This record gives sequence, structure tokens and C-alpha cells, in this order.
Amino acid sequence: MIKVCKFGGSSVANAGQFKKIKSIVDSENERKVIVASAIGKSDKDDHKVTDLLYLCVAHKKYGMSYDSLLEEIRKKHQAVIDELGLSFDLEAEISRLKDLLDRKENKDEIISYGEYLSSRLLALYLNAEFVDAKDVVSFNYDGSLNIELTKEKFLPFMETRKKIVVPGFYGVLPNGIIKTMSRGGSDITGSLLANIIDATVYENWTDVSGVYVADPRVIQNPKLVSTITYSELREMSYMGANVLHDESIFPVKEKHIPINIRNTNKPEDLGTMIVDSSDDKDSVITGITGKKDFEIISVAKQGSTNEVGFLSKIFGIFDNYDVPIVFLTTSIDSFSMIVDKNSVKCSIYELANEIKTRLECDEVTVSGNLALVCVVGRNMRAKKGMAGNVFSLLGDNGINIRTISQGSDEISIIVGIDEENFTKAVSCLYEGFVK
Ligand code: ADP
Ligand code: ASP
Ligand code: MG
Repeated sequence: MIKVCKFGGSSVANAGQFKKIKSIVDSENERKVIVASAIGKSDKDDHKVTDLLYLCVAHKKYGMSYDSLLEEIRKKHQAVIDELGLSFDLEAEISRLKDLLDRKENKDEIISYGEYLSSRLLALYLNAEFVDAKDVVSFNYDGSLNIELTKEKFLPFMETRKKIVVPGFYGVLPNGIIKTMSRGGSDITGSLLANIIDATVYENWTDVSGVYVADPRVIQNPKLVSTITYSELREMSYMGANVLHDESIFPVKEKHIPINIRNTNKPEDLGTMIVDSSDDKDSVITGITGKKDFEIISVAKQGSTNEVGFLSKIFGIFDNYDVPIVFLTTSIDSFSMIVDKNSVKCSIYELANEIKTRLECDEVTVSGNLALVCVVGRNMRAKKGMAGNVFSLLGDNGINIRTISQGSDEISIIVGIDEENFTKAVSCLYEGFVK
């Protein structure tokens, strides 16, 4: 019976937080595998170590000095070392980091330093064994996780009688080069290790007491969800509820291992359980989330609905430009592809123009300023008129709906609106459905 516990950036933000972790970890023998993020913010004006490392890389790129940034990173770790009375050669580690920056080595190795350092310190403080992610967490060359190889490398460490601390967020490619995951990736490391050791539960310790129906930065004191399914959380986290990385759901889901979101600052709170399925029929809506920064490419061509292969030709052009389509909405002879602005590395107008000329379309337009708002709930499919309610609530509040999408599993309804209406839309849906 082993639990994997991942502690996020705010949970390792300073010596006081390290003390809270120690009391959580020591209170249960089953809490044997610990995954740590880099030192995060102690308060809202503070800086995350990972952000400082990204800044160092950017300063290096533009020939600017990064000494003051390195000093800030050093001070944050030194404060933890001093207050906890740890014996650790920080100077040697910082000069190794400086050396990597000077030599302009692998950028990912530099970025991974935040997790590496916090985990070294945490292992020392917990009297646990430090297992470097570069020696266990393995990727394939395409960036996907190699679960089998990670298992082969990690299981021997489980024979130790000590607790184990592993840095989150990074691993190695088959050639041994360090690779980091996308932001918030320590959640994935925790999930991966939980899968490998068949953990009884994957505890994800953060700064909130679980998953709220809506983002607490948008809605004041939102309702807490006690149980939610993997599919619902996947929809919510993909659509902006960044309490958990959306990709971290897959490894634990595969083994039916529950995720328990817990609050490091309030360990007595039971948090949210994320499970395969739930019989709870009380709440119809489990989440109201959303994201800004989307664009729509709309394609119109007379008769195209009957043209075999028309859509696949459009998709082929998106593939060539390496732009993923987030959603597709269709009407007769017209199709709208919604894309995340940040994933478009090319010129979106070039892509649109290629569709227009190659497929001889009547019209191809690009429009931006789109936010998506998502209403999630496994019990929505049994409830009549849900989509109508969403549209009326938005309409009554003067919010124009630009796109509509509902998956065939009817677990979510996603609407596209103007970005300036984002907060208003989340608020009125919350008022209407939850309050
Ligand atoms: P960590 O550093 O522990 O990984 P994150 O900052 O990544 O923590 O995630 C926790 C944060 O997620 C919370 O502080 C909260 O502001 C934000 N969040 C966004 N949406 C939600 C939601 N629906 N429920 C809970 N937290 C949410
Ligand atoms: N430190 C990394 C980040 O800030 C990874 C993580 O916290 O999960 O994105
Ligand atoms: Mg996180």
C-alpha cells in the first residue's frame, strides 16, 4: 500500500512549507514516493524559480547578464537551507548552473534545475533517498513517456526502506539528454510514478482544498467538488482549470488509481477525489471553466458538404503547418476550425490562404478575440434543456455566442464568445447553475 505524493510549487515555496510537508509525509507510512516541483511563489509578488530560470535562458540569448537572476535563485534556496539547518553545497550547484548557462548547453537541463534543487533539499530534510528524474523518467524521441523503461529503472529504487524524493517536470530522451515537460508537468511525473508502482492513491498536494466548480481567481469562494470523474477533470483541466495538468490524468486512469487533490496548508481537508465513475446524481454541473486566446478559421465553399474528402484535405493543410485543431464546428457548406493562438507557429493568414487557393473555396476568414467557456458535468446527458439553459443565461446577460460545440458523450458544452465577455460569462453561468 503505497501512496505517491506530489507537492506543487507553492507547497515547497519556503522553509515553512517544507515543515508542513514533513508533517504530512511523516504522518502516514504509506506516503513513500514524493514528487516535488521547483520552489514557487511565497506570495503573489514573488517569483517562481522555474520562471527565473526561463528568464536566465532568455537573458543569455539576448546577451544580457543573468547574474542577478542567479542570485535570486541562490537566495531562495539558501534561505531554506539556513532555516532548516541543512548541510548542502549550494555554491557548487549554482556554479554548475552558471556553467551550463555560460556554455549555452541544453536549455531544458537549465530549466530542470528548479525541480532538481528543491528535491535535493526536500530529500535531505525528510531524510529520504533522492532519486534523480534523469536516472528514471524516460521519454521516447517523440516526447511521449516511455512507461515501461521508466518502470524498469525506477522499481529497483523501491527496494530501499527509505522514503524516496523524485524531482518532477523532467526526464531523459533515449540519448540521455534532459528534457522538460510542458509547464505544470510535475503533475505528470507523479501520475507516471503512481502508475508504475500501482499506488493506492495519487495525492496531489497544492494550495487549494480540491477542485472548485469554477476558477477561484474568477469566482469568489466557489463551491468545492468532492468527487469528480477522470473524464470530467480532463475536460476541465484542458479547458483552463489548471489545478492539475490535463495530461496527468492518463497514467493513473489506465490503472484506475484515484487522484486526491489536497491542500498542503490545510491537511485536515479531505480534498477532491478523482475517480473512474461516480453514482452521485446530486450535481448536474461539476465545472465551469474557460480559456482565452483562440482564433477561428472559417471555410465556405458551395457544395463542399457533399464533396468526399474535403475535410480531410483541410486537415492535411493544418497538419503541414503543424497546427492542432482544438474544435471543429460545421454547418451546411461551411466549416470552422478553432485553434489555440499560442500553438500557431506560422502565419495564420498564410495557412488560411493556402486552404482558399488549394481547395478553391468561396471564402476563408480568420477571426480572433475568441474565448471558450466550457460547462462540464457527467449528469448533463440525463438532463433535458441544458444547452438551452446555457444559451439563455448568456443571452440574458447580453453575451453573443460565436460558436457552439457539444461532444457526443454530452459531458460538456463549449461556447465561443468575445474575450471581453469571459469573466461575465463564467460568473453568470455560475450564478445560474450553481447558486
Ligand atoms: P501547484 O503549484 O501546486 O501545482 P497550481 O498553481 O498549478 O498549483 O494549481 C493550483 C491553482 O489552480 C489554484 O491556486 C487555483 O488558483 C487554480 N485553479 C484554477 N481553476 C481551478 C479550479 N477549478 N479548482 C481549483 N483550483 C483552480
Ligand atoms: N516548475 C514547473 C513549472 O513551473 C513544473 C511544475 O511546477 O509542475 O511549470
Ligand atoms: Mg500545477
